[in-house]
Amino acid sequence: MSTLALAFDLGGTELRGALVERGGDVVARVSAPTLAVAGSEAVIGQIITLADMLLKEHPQAKVTGIGMCAPGPLDPKAGIVIGPPTLAGWHNVPLIDILSRQFGLPVRLENDANAAALGEWRFGAGRGTGSLVFVTVSTGIGGGVIADGHIYHGRRGLAAEIGHMTITGEGDRCFCGAVGCFEAVASGTALGRWATRLTTPGDGSLLRRLSNNGDVSARHVVEAARAGDVAARRLVEAEARWLGIGFTNLLHLYSPDLIVMGGGLSNGFDLLAPTIRATVEHRAMQAYRDVPIVPAELGDRAGLVGAASLILWEGEPGTALAMVQNEETTTGAREASQG
Ligand SMILES: [Zn+2]
Repeated sequence: MSTLALAFDLGGTELRGALVERGGDVVARVSAPTLAVAGSEAVIGQIITLADMLLKEHPQAKVTGIGMCAPGPLDPKAGIVIGPPTLAGWHNVPLIDILSRQFGLPVRLENDANAAALGEWRFGAGRGTGSLVFVTVSTGIGGGVIADGHIYHGRRGLAAEIGHMTITGEGDRCFCGAVGCFEAVASGTALGRWATRLTTPGDGSLLRRLSNNGDVSARHVVEAARAGDVAARRLVEAEARWLGIGFTNLLHLYSPDLIVMGGGLSNGFDLLAPTIRATVEHRAMQAYRDVPIVPAELGDRAGLVGAASLILWEGEPGTALAMVQNEETTTGAREASQG
């Protein structure tokens, strides 16, 4: 068996673990509902349990380290989870120290959106590009930027908090307290909210029939739009316009070779794409208009394989990222000595 990394993706609802090969293939996966309100010690206990399960299943595995991603804010260099809003009782937890002492292995920590960006860049939709912006649109909006072969970190690793860039002066208040955040107007949650407001229970609309007369979700909107429902199509168009405005900002800021859209709402990418592109065409300066905008390819394993690749491909934090050659991702792992 080739060299592997243990990878963990710590989310507010689910904790995922995997054994990942250098070529990005997932050899084994486990998961558990995160004990999100039980505090950091309980969750670290879960990580250890899942790691033991994976290692017991694959006693032959040559594990060289642990790649871990978690919600921000976190400091990837210092290895500290600063205080994610979705995990109770996590305040400045030195996760790298704790896990490396527990397992006697090198550990790398990265923000979950950055890890997913790295996964897509290295093994997914972004293969072969120099720079990309990854945007995940689901409950909220997050993102990561690969710029000239580096994850763009900024001070304390806090860069690319894409969901909280202000793109309008009005609308619903964001959970961060501000008004007009990208996430507050364009997340899947926001789309569901627009649809819920537009309809009423029992009005016979397709949106309310799909939701059994409960609150309408983004998934219902996409489903109704696919069925040709006019109201849902309008909502999708409005959503795509907001995404197009946000993406235009990202093009101007980072000048990527590619924008990759992931997250739950990327299931409706084909419906959203024409208006996203038309909006960019209309708003971006000429030089930025031909940048491709594509759906993510790795789904919910992007963060896992990205985090694993920090162990399997990188040197010290802060060094330039090793570029994966196309043949290596298609023909599987090569020996690490060549990297
Ligand atoms: Zn916000």
